[in-house]
Formats: sequence, C-alpha cells, structure tokens
Amino acid sequence: MSKFKTVPQLPVTSRRAMVIGGSLGGLFAGNLLRQAGWSVDIYERSSHDLDSRGGGIVLQPEVVDAFRQLNVPLANLEMGVRSQYRTVLHPDGRVQSKTYAPQVQTSWSLLYTTLRQAFGNEHYHQGKVLIGVTQSEGGRVVASFDDGERVEADLLVAADGGNSQVRHVLWPEYEPSYAGYIAWRGLLPESSLPGLSHQTLASDFSFANNHGSHILGYLVPGENNDIRPGQRYYNWVWYRVLEEDLIGNVMTDATGHRREYSVPEGLLAPAWRDHIWSEADSLLPPAFRDVVRATQQPFVQSIRDLAMPHLVDGRVVLLGDAAAIPRPHTAASTSKAAYNALELARRLSQTPDDTDRALANWEPEQIALGQRLLAQGKAIGDHLMFHRSTINAG
Ligand SMILES: Cc1cc2nc3c(=O)[nH]c(=O)nc-3n(C[C@H](O)[C@H](O)[C@H](O)COP(=O)(O)OP(=O)(O)OC[C@H]3O[C@@H](n4cnc5c(N)ncnc54)[C@H](O)[C@@H]3O)c2cc1C
Repeated sequence: MSKFKTVPQLPVTSRRAMVIGGSLGGLFAGNLLRQAGWSVDIYERSSHDLDSRGGGIVLQPEVVDAFRQLNVPLANLEMGVRSQYRTVLHPDGRVQSKTYAPQVQTSWSLLYTTLRQAFGNEHYHQGKVLIGVTQSEGGRVVASFDDGERVEADLLVAADGGNSQVRHVLWPEYEPSYAGYIAWRGLLPESSLPGLSHQTLASDFSFANNHGSHILGYLVPGENNDIRPGQRYYNWVWYRVLEEDLIGNVMTDATGHRREYSVPEGLLAPAWRDHIWSEADSLLPPAFRDVVRATQQPFVQSIRDLAMPHLVDGRVVLLGDAAAIPRPHTAASTSKAAYNALELARRLSQTPDDTDRALANWEPEQIALGQRLLAQGKAIGDHLMFHRSTINAG
C-alpha cells in the first residue's frame, strides 16, 4: 500500500451513501462523496484486495483532476513510465510511421492502491455480494447481500462493473453486446523482453496492424510500481477478430470453468496459448512476435459495447463500466469513471438539500459522455478490425 494519508472528511451530514463495487469507479465515488460530506460505505464482492499485477493505464486528465480534488499527492502517479513516440510497424518489421506523441503510462494497481489507501479500511467491506435493490417512497434505498445482510441509505452508487448486478435488477433489458473481436493480453517483466523486442519497442508506444489484427504495447511500472529501467513491465494488447460462437470456448478456462467475458492471467487454456503463439508467427512483425511468444501466461477479454440511456432510478445511480463500457481504443474507461464521480460529487454539493435535483442535473451529461465514447470506440475499433482496406492504413 502507498504511504498516502486517508482523505480528510468534511463534517459528515446525515446523508448516507453506499457504493457497490470497490474497484476504481467505486473508490473514486467513495472518496469524492465522502469529501463532499456524505457518510460512505463501499461494498466489494471480492474478499481480498484487487490486483491486476500492474496492467497499464494511460494517465488521462480526469484521473489527475480527481486526485487533485482529493488532495492526494500526484508525484508518484505522474512519474509513471513516459513514452515519446507512437511507432507503427509493418508486418515485416519495417517502421511504417513514427510520430512524436509524449504520454505517461501508469499502472492500474498504482491508482487502485492510492485510492484504496485514501479511503481507508473502516468503511470498505470486502466479500459483500449485492444481490438485490429496493427503494421506498421517502428516498431510501435498500441493498440486499448474499449473506442475508440488508443495508439502507439515501443513495446507492452502482460501480459494480460491466456486468453490473444493480443494472441487471433495474434495467434487465440492457446488456453489453459483443463487438466481434477479443483482446489477447500479456504482461511480462522488462528483463524478459527478447533482445530485438527491447531494442524496437521499449522506448515507444508501438503498434502493428494486419488483417483482423491490431497489436499495441508499452512499458508500465513494474512490481511495487517500480519505474526504474529494467524493473518495469511490458504490457501488450492484441485485438483479434473472433467469431462469436468461439467465445464460449476461449472463455472456458484451464480448469474447465466457463467465464463470462475474461480469463485472468494463469488460467487461459493451454490450447489457446499455443494458438496465440502460432498466430503470432504469421501475423505479427518480429519484435511483437517475440514478445507474444515470450509471454507464458497470456490472458484474454472480449470487447463489448454498452452505453446506458438511463443512469438514475430514484436514488440509484450507475457509474463507471456499469454505466457505459468504452472500447479500450479510447483509453477512457478509467477517466470516464473518474469524471462520473467528480461530477456526481459536484452536483450533490451544489444542491445539498435536494438530492433528486442533483441527480437529475448530473444524469444527461453523463449519458451523453457514455454514448459519445461508445460511438468513438466503435468508429476506431471497427475501422481497425473490419474496414481497413490495407495493412498500411492507420
Ligand atoms: C482486478 C481488476 C484489474 C483491472 N486491471 C485493469 C488494467 O490493468 N487496465 C485497464 O485498463 N483496466 C483494468 N481494469 C478495468 C478498469 O478498472 C475499469 O474498466 C474502469 O476503471 C472502470 O472501473 P469500474 O470500477 O467501473 O469497474 P470494474 O473495475 O470492473 O469494477 C467493478 C467492481 O465491482 C465489483 N462487483 C461486481 N459485482 C458486484 C456485486 N454484485 N456486489 C459487490 N461488488 C461487485 C467487482 O468485484 C469489481 O471490483 C481492472 C478491473 C479489475 C476489477
């Protein structure tokens, strides 16, 4: 855990919020609502701290704004790993384009541990699986958990991710839809990068395209958020078109368990790992091919689309991936979660005696944001995966 202090709390009013889901969206909301004077409890399904072993996140301004708003020191986050150029490689390995585009890549774990530390343990409840939500006339909302506990509050913030149970209860007709392609992913220590890959890829944000294939990679902080050269991780994401009827097979993990939309590191069925290695030979430039083949435990997620046309029902609010899942090409899901939470706290502070009005003021812009990102992600992703007429384009 980081050394940051717990976020100072304004005098707590009688207003009580519960946040379902204790990942980034839930932690942004929990910290910011508390700072706005609400008494907040977070309920997270997982019984242990979450971990992505440092998967990469491009540090976007909304995330920086949220940390500034919370007075959490940014030095560590902004340090991240810097890349200078965006380089596109031709499948034969030649450099197709190189554009100056400096940016900082940070890690999911660094954001998570910082926000988690800021929120503290007392009101962060692990191993709590929400199963139901009911509301009463007087603006009260009751959450039911699978251990039989029922909790009542003035506001429920659903930050329970792309498969949101809260959304399923209130708006069962809306589910994410499969975009037609998946993302194979890998994370390996910088020290394990094969020579050609290190030489070609390490200092840039690199890409390579082929038919139905788009790979990118960059360095991110390593173990314990270490950013020293040699101690970092290389993070790659390889988008591949996959027919929908094969999804069930890919998502059946090494133990035979059928997962919904992702298989974590270490659990991908060995036959699929072999499949990736062999496809790398025919589709990727040598530097990326070697990285993929050096990754012993790739993992996978399917790419899905969702942008809810409703985010508020009485005193229930959807936020983060529960509200809209932007495709990863937008690099926006974490920044959208941060912005959803920043604006929610701001609107609630604007009309402290009228929560319903605050929610009504908050909702339209957030719906529009989700839909804009959905359209943007579709345009980029469909172009890259389905419509690009030659491998030389974009
Ligand atoms: C472990 C983990 C690692 C990740 N790593 C990366 C990464 O490396 N790079 C990246 O770009 N994105 C990553 N993401 C995704 C990223 O956090 C989100 O896309 C984005 O930040 C929006 O977050 P969210 O909080 O809305 O949703 P999510 O991050 O999906 O979080 C939803 C949370 O809700 C909890 N939950 C679900 N159902 C229930 C329930 N019924 N009751 C209680 N709790 C429930 C889940 O356990 C989860 O913690 C990761 C997510 C997780 C959970």
